[in-house]
Amino acid sequence: MSTKLKRKAQLQCPNWYLGNCIGCDIYIDKKYLKRNNWAPVLLSIDSKKSDKPCIVEKGCDYFNKFIK
Ligand code: SF4
Repeated sequence: MSTKLKRKAQLQCPNWYLGNCIGCDIYIDKKYLKRNNWAPVLLSIDSKKSDKPCIVEKGCDYFNKFIK
């Protein structure tokens, strides 16, 4: 681990696990939210990131949305 971004991911990203990424993402269905005025928070596992080394230096949407 060498960069500030990786250090920040290590300290603040809930997906960080021993240098690898758990790959969990969270989202809501915005159309459902608009129709019902509420929406469940959904979780999914991104198989491209799960159990692989953290890719924050190459660009990570999760990191940019929730941590940066
Ligand atoms: S790849 Fe992204 S989501 Fe996964 S541990 Fe790194 S910063 Fe977190």
